[in-house]
This record gives sequence, C-alpha cells and structure tokens, in this order.
Amino acid sequence: MDMSRLKAAEKELPRYKKTLIKKDVVIIGAGAAGLMCAIEAGKRNRSVIVLEHMDKIARKIRVSGGGHCNFTNINLQPDNYLSANPHFCKSALARFTPHDFISLTERYGIEYYEKEKGQLFCQGTSGEVVRMLYEECRKAGVEISVDCRVRSITKAGHFKVSTNLNKIEASALVIATGGLSYPELGASDMGFRTAQRFGLKVTQLKPALVPLVFSRQDLEKFSELSGASFDAIVGCRGRQFRGEVLFTHRGLSGPAILQVSSYWDKGDKITIDLMPDRNAYELFMSKRRRRTELSNLLSEYLPRRFSHRWSELNAPIRPLCQYTEKELKDIAHQLHHWTIRPAGTEGYGKAEITAGGIDTDELSSRTMEAKKVPGLYFAGEVIDVAGQLGGYNLQWAWSSGFIAGQYA
Ligand SMILES: Cc1cc2nc3c(=O)[nH]c(=O)nc-3n(C[C@H](O)[C@H](O)[C@H](O)COP(=O)(O)OP(=O)(O)OC[C@H]3O[C@@H](n4cnc5c(N)ncnc54)[C@H](O)[C@@H]3O)c2cc1C
Repeated sequence: MDMSRLKAAEKELPRYKKTLIKKDVVIIGAGAAGLMCAIEAGKRNRSVIVLEHMDKIARKIRVSGGGHCNFTNINLQPDNYLSANPHFCKSALARFTPHDFISLTERYGIEYYEKEKGQLFCQGTSGEVVRMLYEECRKAGVEISVDCRVRSITKAGHFKVSTNLNKIEASALVIATGGLSYPELGASDMGFRTAQRFGLKVTQLKPALVPLVFSRQDLEKFSELSGASFDAIVGCRGRQFRGEVLFTHRGLSGPAILQVSSYWDKGDKITIDLMPDRNAYELFMSKRRRRTELSNLLSEYLPRRFSHRWSELNAPIRPLCQYTEKELKDIAHQLHHWTIRPAGTEGYGKAEITAGGIDTDELSSRTMEAKKVPGLYFAGEVIDVAGQLGGYNLQWAWSSGFIAGQYA
C-alpha cells in the first residue's frame, strides 16, 4: 500500500480559518472509534467533521501491536471485556463483529496473520489500517480537521463546538477521545470532563494492561533479574492468564502480567504458578534420590538467575535428597503459588488502556447515545468497557464506533 499518499494527504488536511461550519455530526477524536463512526455516519449521507487535536490521525493505531496492529481477535467473547456492566458491550460486538472488520481489511488487500489465540496482526504495518480508514472517510465525504483544539462545547438545541480553528454547529456530537494512556500519542481527559459537564457519571479510572511495580523489599530481591522471562499462569481476583512474565528494572511485565493488571487493585496480591505444565511435588519425588541442588533442578524449567534467587529465598540450600517429604510438598506448593504484592503500576505513561470510563448506565447499548442528553454519543475506550490484551480493544473501538455511526 502506498503510504506516501497518506502522508501527502495528511499535510493537505484542512486547518480552517475561524468560521461557523454547519454539519450534521461533529466527532471529537480521530482514533479508531471516531474514524469508524465517521465512516458509517458519512455513508448515511450525514455531513460529518472529525476534530483531532494532534497533527496526525490515529496515532495509537500506528503504534499498536508493535507497529503491526493487532486489529481484532477471532475468538472474541463478551467475557474478554471488563466493565461495571458486563452485558453492555454485547450488542455492539454482535452487530459489528471481528469478521465484519476482517472483510473491510480484505477489501483493501491488507494481508494479515493469526499470531496466537485468535489475535490477528497486519503482515505489513499498522499504517495500512490507518490508510484504509482514511480512504473510507474520504469516500464517505467525511472532513477531518487536525491540529484542532476544542475550547468549549455548548448545547442549545444543537451542539456548538468552538475550537482554535473554527466553530461547528451540529445536531449530533460524538465523543471518541479514548482513554488517558500514552499522553504523547494524544490521550486527554476531555471525554470524561465533557461527560461530567453534561451530568453523566464516569466510573473510577485506572491504568490497565500495564506493567506492575515491585514493593521496595521485592525490588531489592529481584532488581538484578531484569530481562529474565518465563512462562507462567498469573492470577488475581479469580482471573488467571497464561503467558510470558518478564522481570523489568522496576517490577514485572509481559503479556500475563499486563492481562492481570486490569483486574489488580492497590493492596491486592498476585499469584504466579511458576511450573504451569508440571506437578512440582511429583517432579521432586521422582528426582528425590539425586544429590542435585534444588535450584539446579529448577533451572531446567526457569531462567537460571531466577531459579537461584527464588530457591535462596524460599528453600534451604541443600541437595534434593536431604529434604523431607513435607518440605518438598511445601516448596512445590510455593512454586505453584508464588505470591507477590505489587506496590503499584507503571501508570498511564506505560498503560495500553484505561479501565473505567463513561458509566454504561448513562448510555444506550443499542445506539451509544447518552440517555439524558439526546444527540450526544460516546464510542471507544472512553466508555467503561476495557478489553483484555489481544486485539479486543481495537475491536471494541470498531464496534462501538460503527454503532454510534448508525444513529449519530
Ligand atoms: C502502545 C499501544 C499499543 C496498543 N496495541 C493494541 C493492539 O495491538 N490491539 C488492540 O486491540 N489495542 C491496542 N491498544 C489499545 C488501542 O489502541 C485503544 O484501545 C484504541 O485505540 C482505542 O480507540 P479509541 O478510538 O477509543 O481511542 P484512540 O485510538 O486513543 O483515539 C482517540 C483520539 O482522540 C484524540 N483526542 C483526545 N483528546 C482530544 C481532544 N481533546 N481534542 C481532539 N482530539 C482528541 C486523540 O489524539 C486520538 O486521536 C494499544 C494501545 C497502546 C497505547
């Protein structure tokens, strides 16, 4: 796909002089949800303008999936989402499915592959998805205004949005400003503030899909392990995730930790099964006659540096044959239930998403419109629907944007 055309086109995106523009729909945020909503509303012959405060559209999509955009997940279930109302997301996800988005990418010849667990990534770069959305917007007659900072929003019948560039009057306003994570990619709290100004509740916000930080004591014990990784099952608040766990210089990261972080709250502990494929006690008993040190045996299954440190902290240093059965049972139990109480997370600067958002009680799950404010819609991450890692968040943005675009 010719990316230079997108770059050239972006340079040409209008920076309006201050004039009053009348549109049917004004959308704030040219990210995944805002663009999808714009395309759909445009296809309905609504006149649409999208306002983006960054100099480029869809910055998050560009960096998503390590630059290859994990754009959906074909194993998607409503259970892959965290929300105060777990039913809210169901209608939108059923009406614009992963297969609907896949069909769109196929029409644009975007090549993709399944990495693992249903996660679909672009074979090329995320830019191909951005270009596809841009082309769809163009075909649907959508206007996009970049470098556009919203100064005020009022409603007296119609919505009036005043910006540094223009004033827009529209009968429908869609807030698609995303969450708070990665401020350098354009994140702002405007969506939440706007909701509150219109009297809508916003649930507790927190960084999610985010690395966890050790307590001071644990940092002293494990800081030298930075870079070591292993496969494990990590659990918190009744949720378990299998995947890589990675020691960082501040704590723990890797897919299994990111997943569990969305369920973690301050003060919670996380439990890590360090030997997910084996019964550690049976393993010990089968090797019990050996003079092998426990840490050497464990290093066959865990990174050597970690197995030594873990053994130092959790088991007396002696050959396997010198442990009692009870001691081996206890050590095996600890291996399957290694417990860490993180001090915190790395915050919004390193979080893939924000959990929490516009209270779903305030919105119609059929239309994404605010129940109390006719004409006001929300789409994407700004809503209290947080997906797990694996393409679920972009799919929520596509689905909720699609739905808002049918009604705005
Ligand atoms: C590093 C990283 C990698 C990720 N990888 C994946 C992945 O591979 N798969 C996946 O499913 N999810 C991924 N995510 C999450 C996913 O990108 C988001 O959940 C998704 O983009 C949310 O879509 P959205 O349209 O709601 O918000 P966004 O995509 O964040 O779009 C919001 C837009 O609104 C603009 N905006 C914000 N405030 C204002 C304002 N005041 N005025 C005007 N414009 C404003 C922003 O600049 C932005 O363009 C990743 C996130 C990060 C940070």
